[in-house]
Amino acid sequence: MPVSATEKPFYETKSLHEMSPAEWESLCDGCGKCCVLKLEDVDTHIIYSTDVGCKLLDCENARCHHYADRKKHVPDCVVLTPDNLSHLSWMPKSCAYRRLYEGRGLADWHPLVTGRAESVAEAGHSVAGRLFPEDSIDEEDLPDHITDWDAAE
Ligand code: SF4
Repeated sequence: MPVSATEKPFYETKSLHEMSPAEWESLCDGCGKCCVLKLEDVDTHIIYSTDVGCKLLDCENARCHHYADRKKHVPDCVVLTPDNLSHLSWMPKSCAYRRLYEGRGLADWHPLVTGRAESVAEAGHSVAGRLFPEDSIDEEDLPDHITDWDAAE
C-alpha cells in the first residue's frame, strides 16, 4: 500500500518488536560493517572491528553470499533480533538497528529515507571495496587491520 505524504513510515511509528519480518529486514542498510572479522581484548573485553571481511562476504559489494543460511556456514554469526540488540554494543553506531534501539532514528542517508541504496556508499558508510578477503590475511596479522568504521558517523 503506498504511503501518503502525511503518513509516517513504519520505522517512525512502530517499535522494533511490532515490525513485520519484512520491515525488520528492510532496516538493514547493507553497509556490511557488522560482517567484518573482530578481535576481543581479553583483558578489557572491548571488541574491535577490522577491515577483513567474513569469508561469506563479497568484499566488492558488501553482500553475504549465504545470507539465508549464514549460520550454517558461520555458526557464530549473530542474527539480530529485537531482544539481543541490548547485548550488541560492538555493532557500529551507524547501524540502523542500533540507531532505532537507541532512539536516534534512521540516518538521513539510509535507503528507506533516500529511496536509493547508493546513498549508503555516497555517505561513506559502506565497506564495499574497502575490505581484505579473510583468506588473504594471516590470523596473527589481524591486529594490524583494526579499523574504526564509526569514524564517518
Ligand atoms: S551494521 Fe547494521 S545496517 Fe550495517 S549491514 Fe550490519 S545489520 Fe545491516
